[in-house]
Amino acid sequence: MSGKRDSNSRPRPWQGCALPAELFPHIISLSLCKKKVRDINLLFEININEFVFMEDISRKVKVLIDFFKTKQLVPTELDYKNEYQLLTAVVLSAQCLDKRVNKITPKLFEKYKSFEELSNARKENVYEIIKSISYPEVKTERIINISKIIVEKYQGKMPQKINDLTSIGGIGRKTANLVLAVLYDYPGIAVDTHVARVSYRFGLTESKNADKIEKDLSQIFPQEYWNKINPWFVIFGRYTCKAIKPICNECKLKDLCIINKTS
Ligand code: SF4
Repeated sequence: MSGKRDSNSRPRPWQGCALPAELFPHIISLSLCKKKVRDINLLFEININEFVFMEDISRKVKVLIDFFKTKQLVPTELDYKNEYQLLTAVVLSAQCLDKRVNKITPKLFEKYKSFEELSNARKENVYEIIKSISYPEVKTERIINISKIIVEKYQGKMPQKINDLTSIGGIGRKTANLVLAVLYDYPGIAVDTHVARVSYRFGLTESKNADKIEKDLSQIFPQEYWNKINPWFVIFGRYTCKAIKPICNECKLKDLCIINKTS
């Protein structure tokens, strides 16, 4: 088989190939043999090099699933007790460490116990409580406005459909996917900075755009794992595959990595 991919080279996007995206998850369980490759190639007229690339991606996905399945799943490191607290904490955690958010939310949730109470809060009082996290002014406005919309449009109950949630100003797909996945086991992939970085380093995507990364990952992971990708990659990205100075010498997944040059 010619054109074998150099494991250190950046992957090409697979969107251009003719194999239907819904078949990607099935390749994971496909035991490759020359006949199967030839049959699939004839059936979908795909380039053999693209198939080798897809097989490599599928192998990586299988290794990742096997590796992370053995770890304890921590859906989020944010402290919360209900949907109001989780949604508010996730919005506050944008570009901020979870542990910093966890320091201010007990006081915030003690003073404002629901979307309704937060919707009626004075901005200066909320700001005073959350001022130690990043972008406190913007986030003060954001959590109050979100609460107002949820009270006015959804009778104070957080909507459980992704389109309803993302229609609320200040709630993006990452937040909506994460909250629905943690609370209701919704099959969404929340792409934050850790998921984006780790996915790139494993060669699972070429993109830096969150929506595109979500699409790429959803095409190669079986749906049953979609809402586990965020907790898996976040913990891995936070403690091992750090943005600056990743701990490559202790990394158990270095064989999958396209940037690590150590053996
Ligand atoms: S080898 Fe280093 S950069 Fe690559 S995945 Fe592991 S920790 Fe991340």
